[in-house]
Amino acid sequence: MAILSSAGRAPVARHASTTIARTGESSRDLAQEPRRGVAVSRRAALLGSSAAVVGLGRTKPAVADDFVKDPSFFAEWSYSQPADIIPYIKATANEGDPASVLTAMDTFGRYYPMYKLGDEKGRILAELVKERRPRRSVEIGTFLGYSAIWTASNLPPGATLTCVEFEPRHAAVARELVRFAGLADSVEILEGAGSERVPDVKRRVGDGVAADMIFLDHCKECYLPDLKLMEGAGLVGEGTVVVADNVIYPGAPDFLDYVDTSRGRYETTLLEAAFEYDQVWKKDWVPQRDALSYSVYVGRGDGGT
Ligand code: CA
Repeated sequence: MAILSSAGRAPVARHASTTIARTGESSRDLAQEPRRGVAVSRRAALLGSSAAVVGLGRTKPAVADDFVKDPSFFAEWSYSQPADIIPYIKATANEGDPASVLTAMDTFGRYYPMYKLGDEKGRILAELVKERRPRRSVEIGTFLGYSAIWTASNLPPGATLTCVEFEPRHAAVARELVRFAGLADSVEILEGAGSERVPDVKRRVGDGVAADMIFLDHCKECYLPDLKLMEGAGLVGEGTVVVADNVIYPGAPDFLDYVDTSRGRYETTLLEAAFEYDQVWKKDWVPQRDALSYSVYVGRGDGGT
């Protein structure tokens, strides 16, 4: 069973399996989700059961669904390497205004689809950040900084976000866009594999202190081993929230099994949202169901084997 709101506000149903909550017409309603959530079996969740219909009451996108592409865009703005997005953002967004940077990234992504978190999931992540008010956040898999900007722009004053991005070209763009958004003081972007940078992340979070929120959006098969490394390093403690993207599509079944509420380690909710990367150039591509998982660490559990 899941908790989406601050301690004490949400009902806790023990022994319930993972919950899927539909994202509301307004993401401001997230704190109410436990009442609207639909308890389903983990297997049903993994299979994308009828309880996990994606697309109902989607959050309002930053770029309208009736968006019409400007044919001249491609002549003016190319995208052959990650840094190509920077001139567009600087020309169309306002320095120091994270929302305008996100909108510009969304618009650019309409022309050049990319693996960024996307507006719908970004808004969900932002609501979770506003709800939990994490002092120390961690993100593994930063890409061009889109989700980091969503997170950092909603952190409480003085809070920090430590990111790890494997690809140096992506990390360089993310740093520049975070700086342009006015968030450089709270965000540090480390390069390398998540598994390799755990000790550095731990140093930044602080000795004897767990992270308040961890967001996973890197290689899906890395979620579980990297989470275990972070647990071992003391980055996960009671109340730590672990949010993971793409747990349904492409999917992270071993991770979902590990954080399943029935295991006793975490209380987990799935927040449904469409897969963020429409690969419309693929023959027969159809929008995919997906979800963010939201897990609150509650103890070591018994392994649940
Ligand atoms: Ca993702």
